[in-house]
Amino acid sequence: MQASVNLWGVMTKERMQERCDVVIVGAGFAGMYALHSLRKAGYKVQVIERGSDVGGTWYWNRYPGARCDVESMEYSYSFSESLQQEWNWTERYSGQPEILRYAQHVADRFDLRCDIRFNESVVSANYRESEDRWAITTDKDNCFDAQFVIMATGCLSSTNIPDFEGLEGFRGDWYHTGLWPKEGVDFSGKKVAVIGTGSSAIQSIPRIAEQADHLTVFQRTPNFSIPAHNRQLKDEFVEDIKSSYADFRAQNRLSITGFGSRMERHEDSVFDTEEGDRNQRFESKWAIGGFGFLSAFGDLLASTDGNKFAAEFVRNKIREIVHDPEVAELLCPQQVIGCKRICVDTDYFVTFNRDNVVLVDIKDTPISRVSEHGIQIQAADSIREYEFDTLVFATGFDAMTGSVLRVDIRGRGGLQLKDKWHAGPRTYLGLSIHGFPNLFTISGPGSPSVLTNMIVSIEQHVDWVCSCIEYMQSRALTSIEAKNDAENAWVDHVNAIAGETLYPSCNSWYLGANVPGKPRVFMPYVGGLPMYTEKCEQVSRDGYAGFSLTKLN
Ligand code: NAP
Repeated sequence: MQASVNLWGVMTKERMQERCDVVIVGAGFAGMYALHSLRKAGYKVQVIERGSDVGGTWYWNRYPGARCDVESMEYSYSFSESLQQEWNWTERYSGQPEILRYAQHVADRFDLRCDIRFNESVVSANYRESEDRWAITTDKDNCFDAQFVIMATGCLSSTNIPDFEGLEGFRGDWYHTGLWPKEGVDFSGKKVAVIGTGSSAIQSIPRIAEQADHLTVFQRTPNFSIPAHNRQLKDEFVEDIKSSYADFRAQNRLSITGFGSRMERHEDSVFDTEEGDRNQRFESKWAIGGFGFLSAFGDLLASTDGNKFAAEFVRNKIREIVHDPEVAELLCPQQVIGCKRICVDTDYFVTFNRDNVVLVDIKDTPISRVSEHGIQIQAADSIREYEFDTLVFATGFDAMTGSVLRVDIRGRGGLQLKDKWHAGPRTYLGLSIHGFPNLFTISGPGSPSVLTNMIVSIEQHVDWVCSCIEYMQSRALTSIEAKNDAENAWVDHVNAIAGETLYPSCNSWYLGANVPGKPRVFMPYVGGLPMYTEKCEQVSRDGYAGFSLTKLN
């Protein structure tokens, strides 16, 4: 932004006003690929990113132990054969620093940074019906005028920090895992509290415990976690995949989750197997590690009784690992396994055998406030106080909708998206919203997104959006909008198939249950990536069925 002198001779800040074809919000993996694809197709694109660099979730989540739970040979872009051949992952599951380096490499290699404005947040987006264009403003008072807006804001990027009374008066330091400082945190000699026992906590607790003087973990709901058995990748394994990388990617796209095509998935019923063989199957999956545990039988997520076999197997593992039986029992989850996203860990349960680690169960005695010196718990007839130097909030995210709704988005007739979504998100295909023409959500609610390998889903969505824009340009169409009845039918379908599974049976962030006051709607599409992709392709083959496409007179 430049300074200029106005009519009265007063220096004013000159607002930047820029006209482009597409504004993309966010420079994570979705925003980067959307920029690359649309620019290659000849469009003028502007990306706006609140961080100081690319990487999205891998830019913000720098907490100790942060690691991907999808294997690295699969959690990467497939759009460029030379990129996938030249990049060398070092471990089975990549750590955050390596994934961030990969994102930075992609930005350099495809010269993306010149079209990304860093350290700037989009504040509002208003649809101007008379022009079929959007007016976008940022926190730096810059304005952009674009035909299309792509929300590439990520599913897990709006942090959920509980509204604990007294936090502002806490004398120590506090952090959220999803907003970790770039310079890192030194826990040496400190008394530390971790609040939460989801994936971020499960990954960070073992690393914090190694460094801190003392660690207290505040647990509301225990979680199922399967060992990662992380290791250095062997050259032969990497070469084998690279020798036919395109086929490997194609196979992964045919799997329900977009990854694990080489993983053995058993389709037989857990009820048709004798106890000894059943446990043997679970044992071999435990030895392999990772998400594949739930592929031991075909019906683990379809039947509560069947699910109990898998859940009890993991509980018995926890009882074997954790020495103190009372602590082990507290760490045993009672919900359906897989209903909340399963965690993948390195040394999580064994950490509770350390002398410097204590588990505090707060299921029935929640944190009542944060004091100057630590955390207060409301026990039956007294207040218990725990003193700390450092608090770590591993309390998750306002998932899937939080980052979209952080922008004041107004569509046709000034309709605010937050009003339209007051009872939960409504989209057509998780890509488009009735009342909000020319606006696309990448991996939005109603798409498979978080139930899949995110990069595979991102590539599928971005490819679809690019083809759609090309289709419109070739016919001089100026607006595309999801029809109300198509959106209603899609929302009904998403709910109906979720209702056939055990997913809605627990308080997960998939349902919005982790954020007080958030409407409870099962947000991701459980039908699987292949079925979903086919549906999207059918829609475009049919001339964008379910959408209104118009031309400005
Ligand atoms: P999360 O799964 O939502 O876990 C948040 C934790 O904080 C839960 O244990 C929750 O308890 C607790 N909590 C929330 N509010 C609380 C309060 N007021 N008082 C006490 N406890 C409270 O969040 P996350 O661990 O950040 O993980 C979110 C998702 O991010 C994961 O499911 C995964 O998809 C992704 N992730 C992936 C990786 C990876 O690739 N390996 C790593 C980290 C995260 P309740 O369960 O009782 O609500």
